[in-house]
Amino acid sequence: MVSYLSQYHGGYRIFTVIKEIEKADIWLSAGLSAGVLKEDSLLLLPDNIMIPFTSEEKRRMEQIHEFDVLDINENGIVYRWYSSFDGDAGIATTSACNSNCIMCPAGDNERRHHNHLTVEQLETVVRHMPKDLYYFTVTGGEPTLIGEDSFIRLMNTVKKELPQTKILLLTNGRTLGDRNFMERFLNSKPDCLRVAIPLHGSTAAKHDYITRAQGSFHQTIRAIKALLKEKIELELRIVVSKLNRDDITGIAAYIAHHFPSVTVVNFVGLEMRGNCVINADKVLLSYEDAFQASKAAIKLLIRSGIDVGLYNFPYCMIDKSYWPIAQKSISAYKSVFYPSCEKCEMKNACCGIFKATMRFYKPAVHPIVHGEKDD
Ligand code: SF4
Repeated sequence: MVSYLSQYHGGYRIFTVIKEIEKADIWLSAGLSAGVLKEDSLLLLPDNIMIPFTSEEKRRMEQIHEFDVLDINENGIVYRWYSSFDGDAGIATTSACNSNCIMCPAGDNERRHHNHLTVEQLETVVRHMPKDLYYFTVTGGEPTLIGEDSFIRLMNTVKKELPQTKILLLTNGRTLGDRNFMERFLNSKPDCLRVAIPLHGSTAAKHDYITRAQGSFHQTIRAIKALLKEKIELELRIVVSKLNRDDITGIAAYIAHHFPSVTVVNFVGLEMRGNCVINADKVLLSYEDAFQASKAAIKLLIRSGIDVGLYNFPYCMIDKSYWPIAQKSISAYKSVFYPSCEKCEMKNACCGIFKATMRFYKPAVHPIVHGEKDD
């Protein structure tokens, strides 16, 4: 949610934000909607619905930029699907998931209540995206759980509407482990596609313990093999927690042995929300400890010729020699910095810290000055 507009009493709408009404025809002529944003109101076109802002709403709507793609629901809640400011774009097809990972940043409630847009609404979001968009993410929950036909239809729409865009599909891979589903997926997949799948353990026992879904390891491995066979760009993710810290090198060895053609392996630091908070005593590992637990695995993969990355690890919490593989992986709206980060030379490239994590505990930072941590 980016805002709440108390004076809205209509139905669900998806629209692109514009500042001048003269531009509206670009969207209206394509059968889409536009929202003309003024300092103290939003005019939804083509229906001519004027929504005045309260002073608090006016303050919140200042975060909205021209060409952002938003939706507003019948309760006046506004959500952003594309930010023209930082280029973040994507859709969450459903909050449902067929796994229930102990350290998942989603909670049981989100997983069980299958909030999702209809496939027609999801397609409308895709049609609102700029044609020169660089990245577009399809995620969930588990995105395939909107139903096989709906998912395949959505993939076809993404392929048609965003032919130049790099598409990232975040999935646990279990549905793709089904041969028939995979066949249909292969026939509908966008051309510039990367599939990202998490691997939580080097054995079925460890992986299934973490996903709390028996059989998930074998389903996921089947999907990975099928994707690699089809030469689809594949990213494997290792979410590093207390649950698998002793198996991180084992997972890397498993990947190097069985999947040497994987495109990249990313090591992922925890986001403290949902199940991750509920099970904090079992899962919580500081970013420093998670990095230390990953070092041998990173070296093993690099020596095996496999590209690696670090997601969600601020520079000041990892060894300097690993800075080149740290990614700015947290969306701007989800990350925060301490006031002391202002003097850090790496701030512009740093992922920062999850807002959700900061609500749970406050990791210590060490601003980098003259190339070194300032203790
Ligand atoms: S001090 Fe702040 S900006 Fe610098 S690396 Fe650490 S978290 Fe990032």
